[in-house]
Amino acid sequence: MSEHLVEAVNVTKAFGDNVVLQGVDLTVDPGEVVCLLGPSGSGKTTFLRLINQMEILTGGRIWVGGELIGVEERNGRLYVRKDRDIARQRSRIGMVFQRFNLFPHKTALQNITEAPIQVKRMPKPTARKAALDLLDRVGLADRADYYPAQLSGGQQQRVAIARALAMQPELMLFDEPTSALDPELVGEVLAVMRDLAKDGTTMIVVTHEMGFAREVSDRVVFMDGGVVVEEGTPEQVLLKPTQERTRTFLSRVK
Ligand code: ADP
Repeated sequence: MSEHLVEAVNVTKAFGDNVVLQGVDLTVDPGEVVCLLGPSGSGKTTFLRLINQMEILTGGRIWVGGELIGVEERNGRLYVRKDRDIARQRSRIGMVFQRFNLFPHKTALQNITEAPIQVKRMPKPTARKAALDLLDRVGLADRADYYPAQLSGGQQQRVAIARALAMQPELMLFDEPTSALDPELVGEVLAVMRDLAKDGTTMIVVTHEMGFAREVSDRVVFMDGGVVVEEGTPEQVLLKPTQERTRTFLSRVK
C-alpha cells in the first residue's frame, strides 16, 4: 500500500530477449503532472502501457491508488487478477494516444458517451449532458454531431481527451498526444492539457514538447535505455541536468 497515486517499484519488461525496462522506480502523487522524456526506444510508451495493463510486466510491481495492478497478493502469493478486476482497474485510468483512435462511424458526442453508457451503465441523458460539458471544456461545444473525418487532427485529439475524461479517471496518461499533428494544431491540444493540469488532474505525459514540459510539469523524468536516468523539477532536469545522457538528449531536442 502507498499514499502515492502511482507507485512503480523495480519494474522490468522484456519482449523476448529485448529488455525494454530494466528496473524503473517512479511515483506520482495526486494532482501531480509528470512528464516522461527520453530518446525514442527508451521504454516510455511501454511504461505507460504497463500502468494501463495493455502489457504485462516481467518483474516488479505497480500500484495505482494503493491497489496492485494486474496481480493480487493473497497469503503472500501473487495471483493474476480476473478480467473483471482488470477492467475495473483500467476504468480508473484515461489514456490518450498518439493517434486519436476515435470510432469513425460515431459522432464526437457518441464517441464520448460510449464508455459511460456501456461500461458504467450511465443513463443516456446523464452521459449526454456530461459529454456536452466535456466538449465545451475542450472548446468543441459546436462540434458534438460531427464525425471524426469532419474534424481536424487537433479537434479529434481534443475529442479523444474528452472521451478519456468522461470516465472520470483518477489518472490520465498521454502518449505523445501531439506528435501526429500538423505543427499548427499542436498548440490547441497542449492548451487543453494545460487547463487539465491547472485543474489538478493527475497526469503522466510522454512528450517531446519541451516548452510544455518546462511550463506545466511538476516533475520531469528523463529515461534512456530502459532506466530513469534523472528526475526532478523542470528547472533541475531541463536547465541544470547532472547526467551526461540528459545533456546529450537536451542538446539534440532544443
Ligand atoms: P519509447 O516510447 O521511449 O519510444 P517504447 O516503449 O515504444 O519506447 O519502445 C521500447 C522498445 O520496446 C523498443 O525497442 C521497441 O521496439 C520495443 N517494443 C515495444 N513494444 C513492443 C512489442 N509489442 N513487441 C516487441 N517489442 C516491442
